[in-house]
Amino acid sequence: MAREYKNYIAGEWCDSVTGERFENRNPANWDEVIGTFPNSNAEDVDRAVQAAKEAYDDWRLTPAPMRGEIIRKVGDLLTQYKEDIARTMTREMGKVLAETRGDVQEGIDTAYYAATEGRRLFGHTVPSELPNKFNLSMRIPIGVAGIITPWNFPMAIPTWKIFPALVSGNTVVFKPASDTPATATRLVEILLEAGVPPKVINIVHGGGTRVGVPIVEHRDIRLVSFTGSSAVGKLISEKASKTLKRVSLELGGKNAQIVMDDADLHLALEGVLWGAFGTTGQRCTATSRLILHEKIYDQFLDMLVPAAENLRLGDGLDENNQVGPLINEGQLEKVDEYVQIGKNEGATLVTGGERYSEGDCAKGFFYKPTIFVDVKRDMRIAREEIFGPVLSVFKVSSFDEAIDLINDSTYGLSSSIYTRDVNMAFKAMRDIEAGITYINGPTIGAEAHMPFGGVKETGNGHREGGWEVFEFYTETKVVYVDYSGRLQRAQIDNR
Ligand code: NAD
Repeated sequence: MAREYKNYIAGEWCDSVTGERFENRNPANWDEVIGTFPNSNAEDVDRAVQAAKEAYDDWRLTPAPMRGEIIRKVGDLLTQYKEDIARTMTREMGKVLAETRGDVQEGIDTAYYAATEGRRLFGHTVPSELPNKFNLSMRIPIGVAGIITPWNFPMAIPTWKIFPALVSGNTVVFKPASDTPATATRLVEILLEAGVPPKVINIVHGGGTRVGVPIVEHRDIRLVSFTGSSAVGKLISEKASKTLKRVSLELGGKNAQIVMDDADLHLALEGVLWGAFGTTGQRCTATSRLILHEKIYDQFLDMLVPAAENLRLGDGLDENNQVGPLINEGQLEKVDEYVQIGKNEGATLVTGGERYSEGDCAKGFFYKPTIFVDVKRDMRIAREEIFGPVLSVFKVSSFDEAIDLINDSTYGLSSSIYTRDVNMAFKAMRDIEAGITYINGPTIGAEAHMPFGGVKETGNGHREGGWEVFEFYTETKVVYVDYSGRLQRAQIDNR
């Protein structure tokens, strides 16, 4: 029988007050139920927030290096359980094992980085403009953090948020995506095993409307960190404005790889295969546009199309397979709809464009790697995030045209250019409108210690990862210490 998972609220594993449950199934084999989960509501959220609020004072007063020590232990435990977590993750969301292992590794890297940040959390000391006076700034925690995450990186993304939130001294109410609740539950179990006190971490399972919205609207949640689609990000931004809470939004992308005529074409080919079809195209940084210089256009397509057709689709637990299924039936239908839209708009389908259900894939949501050529900038497949294995190819005649095209997007997350010309590489670094630019690498491959995020409608200016995320999870407090023994008026007594 499938395991009955629980929420963790106020220091205990419990069911939702609704008594309702939802199922989590394997997208590579829809007959397989991974588990059932509480289908929670606003009352469960409120209980979790009250618990997190109660725990806040003790946690905020725990020295930051000690909070960091606990997160270091979380890193050790993630290392110990890595293989087991990766296998569960592949079963619940379909990515191939090499990628789910990478997802857990990102959590491990994030833990060790966050642990050491507990010994930094630097402020500044600054000279005062008045005699016998001392100025400093310090970082203080904010309160209860609401964490809302997507399903495509079920371990990495929650750790990007929860570890810095905790090391900074905040307490947490965590709502994972309902497509990946098992991996999220494992993370909470590990946080507790490592010594995070009860009530400091709470997990509430359920959907966006029933659980996500109450988190965003709750008066006692002082900050929300959200990763997901731009459509939901905009709703969250509106709702959160009512209580003026701090909000970090990491949203969609329409990332492009440019291949110039002087590029190493074999390297560029490996890059686009990995960038477009790795994770079945379900990464916010996935390559969904390919911009080819006209001089190498035909040659590159002759290399790309057969290579895409040779990718092995199947259950990610089989290490021979390279591309797993889409996350669910809805996503499969969405991808197929975009393929029809592309055809109707006049783009030419050169490979893929249909579901794959041969052999062991019959019970999963597999979709053939798909490539469109003759794509025009104003087509929907050129502009909208599809979140599947669909690549739109464009032909350009110059570097300037390539940059103009790559920037012709409402999104601005990741980008890539393959060239051997150092001048062109530096101009691309400067001129591409994106949070991330890779030179001679694919659009995917972020490292945990580097800031991560995008411009335009990919976000609202915050960054995950590295040192910058700690700014989101802390407030700056400024302190003036006057040891002159008299009233000193700034801007007045020293003029
Ligand atoms: P989604 O926006 O549908 O859902 C994300 C999370 O928000 C889920 O937990 C969902 O239950 C919750 N949610 C849904 N509606 C809500 C609402 N009204 N209020 C509060 N919470 C709500 O996204 P998804 O399908 O899970 O993930 C795919 C999307 O995430 C893609 O657009 C992808 O580009 C984006 N993504 C972005 C990044 C990044 O760092 N920029 C990383 C990974 C994924």
